[in-house]
Order: sequence, then structure tokens, then C-alpha cells
Amino acid sequence: ETTPAPNFIRNQVRDEIEGGQVTKIVTRFPPEPNGFLHIGHAKSICLNFGLAEQMGGECHLRFDDTNPAKEEQAYIDAIKEDVSWLGFNWTGPVRFASDYFDQLYAWAQHLIREDKAYVDDLSPDEIREYRGTLTAPGKPSPYRERSVDENLDLLERMRNGEFGESEKVLRAKIDMASPNINLRDPILYRIRHASHHQTGDKWKIYPSYDFTHGQSDAIEGITHSICTLEFEDHRPLYEWFLNNLPVPSKPRQIEFARLNLDYTLTSKRKLKLLVDEQIVDGWDDPRMPTISGMRRRGYTPASIRKFCEMIGVTRADGGLVDIAMLTHAIRSDLEDNAPRAMCVLKPLKVVLTNVAEDHEEVYEVPGHPARDDMAMRKVPFGRELYIDQDDFMEDAPKKFFRLAPGKEVRLRNSYVIRCDEVIKDDAGEVVELRCSVDFDTLGKNPEGRKVKGVVHWVSATHGVPMEVRLYDNLFMVEQPDRDKDVDFLEHLNTESLVICQAIGEPSLADAAPEDRFQFERMGYFCADRHLSKPGQLVFNRTVGLKDSWAK
Ligand code: ATP
Ligand code: MG
Ligand code: MG
Repeated sequence: ETTPAPNFIRNQVRDEIEGGQVTKIVTRFPPEPNGFLHIGHAKSICLNFGLAEQMGGECHLRFDDTNPAKEEQAYIDAIKEDVSWLGFNWTGPVRFASDYFDQLYAWAQHLIREDKAYVDDLSPDEIREYRGTLTAPGKPSPYRERSVDENLDLLERMRNGEFGESEKVLRAKIDMASPNINLRDPILYRIRHASHHQTGDKWKIYPSYDFTHGQSDAIEGITHSICTLEFEDHRPLYEWFLNNLPVPSKPRQIEFARLNLDYTLTSKRKLKLLVDEQIVDGWDDPRMPTISGMRRRGYTPASIRKFCEMIGVTRADGGLVDIAMLTHAIRSDLEDNAPRAMCVLKPLKVVLTNVAEDHEEVYEVPGHPARDDMAMRKVPFGRELYIDQDDFMEDAPKKFFRLAPGKEVRLRNSYVIRCDEVIKDDAGEVVELRCSVDFDTLGKNPEGRKVKGVVHWVSATHGVPMEVRLYDNLFMVEQPDRDKDVDFLEHLNTESLVICQAIGEPSLADAAPEDRFQFERMGYFCADRHLSKPGQLVFNRTVGLKDSWAK
């Protein structure tokens, strides 16, 4: 139905395989375990794992764990779960950049011996100042010409914890006048007196991202090291390390444009703030654009993968992607696959005065209008039922085709009823409708008049109470973090969560966590995977029925 969007990396890899330059590709997905994965990461996951799947290659899962202060085992566990849930399998064991710390240290010593690295005593501020700017070259540190022996000795003492955190760093000796600031003697090691989730207290120094990434790729035999465009300027440095170290293979870095979605933050740091400030109920709050939040909201792995296929992969920044494209992907999945049910979100009692108290009638209704493989549902009807408050209006305009005093409406799958009397409480609120049934309308039109409206309903005696959570965008503006001078929290949508005490048809009573349904006329809903259980149902609205994505 939707034609695949262009994916320049896939095309390139295909050409390389056909041309014989590459026989088997090896990619990797390299998250830092400092937060949960978000929809932006899903793009990278689908790209890396997808390529390996489609091209008969391998994809590694490697934690880029060089910053112990910000990393946690809980994030590692969540990331593994998310990747698996999306339906991808990594090749071999879960890997860690920290697995290579010994090798990286030996390579740092190698650079020192080759006079290509030195220990610098400048402070972080001084290093920044000496580095220069885009228009002004940097100037060499006074420590740049230390001897090999002194550098080796200092590095070892840094490693042993003899110095404080900002007293020394190890830097590559490249070119302080390079037009590319990344080549102006980049930092290779920092002192960090922090315990590491994988290596414990073994290390007092930690390698920088740049000194770690390419060499880890080389150790693992990665052929295509795919990353986002911010790293384009780092590529010369990535290659410098590969060319100046005795690495076992030569991976290639390829950049692509990151995903930006409107109304959505795709930055772990900002999402973490929402969690820490308790603006949301954890990383997997159904309003979060995290993979686990989307999962709780009711997204399927297939829908996220389809979305990633739809947006394609380009080098040019594609700007903001319309969130309607994401909701389209899940809506079309659920349209085809979610069984139907009736659920009244804001119940209004209806008493059918010409139906006997002990009247018993049950309809057999298809689980899905186009899927005879799905079980039929039993929908009981009786004297008392609920309709939605929004389906009744006391002073209805002419075009209101739902229920109003003296007007008729069809109960879905059942009879036409007429509203005869409106009952209010002392405050004037409508609390009950007294209606009568036209028994000659089951499965056929009434005689001599047209009844246009059809409303959903639930038998009051058989219905199951449930909590239904209606979610909306967390932010009210397209790009909440666009303006650097305005706190993105100012754009929070205060109505991003509305909770309803609803009543659903009995077929919902046994819903298991993560079961998905279309509540007819209301949208698609998913039983909360943590909170919902039979007898205490909690449903999250995944998405409404109306599709606004047009292409
Ligand atoms: P964040 O800024 O949210 O912390 P990150 O890039 O620092 O993201 P990593 O854990 O390093 O987070 O990301 C792992 C991989 O996911 C990287 O290869 C990165 O390029 C990719 N990635 C992260 N965000 C996006 C995005 N919005 N679109 C596409 N790929 C992304
Ligand atoms: Mg990163
Ligand atoms: Mg980051």
C-alpha cells in the first residue's frame, strides 16, 4: 500500500555487495545506557538491524558505556528489552565498549610511544581556551612536548588514581591549527573516580567517545558504522585513529539525518528531566516517545517498524516529521488486527421502559467486520443500559443525529429507541434517560421514517467497569525545544491525560495486559501492561479513529 521511502544506505550497501566490494556486512546499534530508547533510536535500530536482516549480514548490540556517572544497569536492561520487543536479534553476545578498555589502554600507550599522544595538565577551561575557534587556530599546550617516558608514567599514574578528576587528561597530538576543531588534540582519556556498572572500580580513567567508538567498531569487524549527522565532523578523527593504530579491521563511518518528530522531544536528556521532575509517570509513561512508553500506549512493533520504513533514510536533514505519519502506522495496523468492542467512556444511564426487568437477549456479533478468523462476541441487551453522555443533547441542533428528547437513535447491533423523558438531579444535571424500544427494528429499518444515528451502548447489568486513560500530546507546540531561551516545559499540555471511569461490554472482562481493541466510535485502546488485570481493567487510548495523515 505505501511505497518504501528511499534509503540511501541500503542502496549503497546493495551496490557494494553486487559490485563485490563487500561480501558480508556487519553493523551495530551502539546506545549509551544513560536513559531509555526513544522513537529516534527506533530509526537507528531499524536501519542497522534491518540492513543486516535484508542483506544477510550481522548486527551487534553494543553499549557505548564510557561515562559511568550517567549510566545504569536498569537502562541496559530496558534497552535490551526494547530492541527484542521491536523484533530484532543481535548477533552474538551483548557487547560493551568497556569490554575493550584493556585494548584501548594499550592503544593509548602505543600512541604515546609513537609521539602521537601526551598527558596534559591544563584545566578543562584552559583546554577550551587553547583550542581556539572556527576562525582562530588553537595554540599548543605547554605540556605538549613531554617525553614518551614521562607520558607513559603519568598515564599509568592517572589510571592508578593518583590524580584528581580535572588535573590531567590524555590527548592525541594531531594539529592545533586544523580547520576541523575535532583534530585539535582531542581528549583520549579523562580521570573519573567513579564505579562502573561493568568494570567496577578497576578504572580511574575512562576513554572518550571518539577514542572508543571507531576502535570498538574495528575490534568487532563492523563494516558500516552508521551514525547521525552530528558526527560528520568527527569522521576525520575516526579515520585518524584507524590509520594510526594497529587495528584489526577498517570500518567506515556513514552519517544519516536524525529523526525529529513534531510535538515530540527526541533527546534522552530532556526526557530524563520529564521523569526526574515527575511530570510523567516514569520512562514508560504512555505519553513518552520512548519505545517502552509507546509499547504501553498500545503501539505494536510492526507499526514502529513500518513508520521507520515510511520515513526512509537520507543524508539531508528532512526537517520535522508529521506525527500523523506515526499515528497512521499504528492506526492501520489496529484497523486490520484489533477486535472490536463497545465501551462507554462517560456513562449516561438509559432505562428502556417497555423492556421487562427479566428480559434476556444476547447478540452474536463479529469480533472484526473483515476477519472471520476472529471469535464472535456475545453482547447482552437488557432493560438498563449505558450510552455515552456525548451521544445525548437536551437542546440538540437539527444536524445532531444522536439522542435528544423525542428523537430516535439506533443502538448499535440492536433496536431503535426513542427518548421519552429526561431525568435530572437537584443540580439540573441529566442523570438518566427514559426511552422506549421499537421492537420491529432489529436488523431492519423502522417503518415510515429514517433513523440516521447509531450509538454504542453497554448493558448496565452485564457491563464491566474499567478505567480508561485518554492521552494527548505532551506538548502543545510543534517543536517544544526550538527556542533555546524558552524552557520547553512552558509548552506542556496540561490535558495530556484525562481519566474516565468507563463501562465496557462483557467480552472485555478477560482482557489480558497488552490486549488491543477498537472501542467502536472511540478509537483504539490497549490494556495497560502493568496496571490492568481481569476484574481491575485499565485501558490506554493508543490513538483515535480519525486519520489526518495525507500523502
Ligand atoms: P540522545 O541525544 O537522545 O541522548 P544519543 O545519540 O546521544 O541520543 P545514543 O544512545 O548514543 O543516544 O544513541 C544510539 C544510536 O541511536 C546512535 O547511533 C544515534 O546516532 C542514534 N540516534 C539517537 N537519536 C536519534 C534520532 N533522533 N534519529 C536517529 N537516530 C538516532
Ligand atoms: Mg551517543
Ligand atoms: Mg546523548
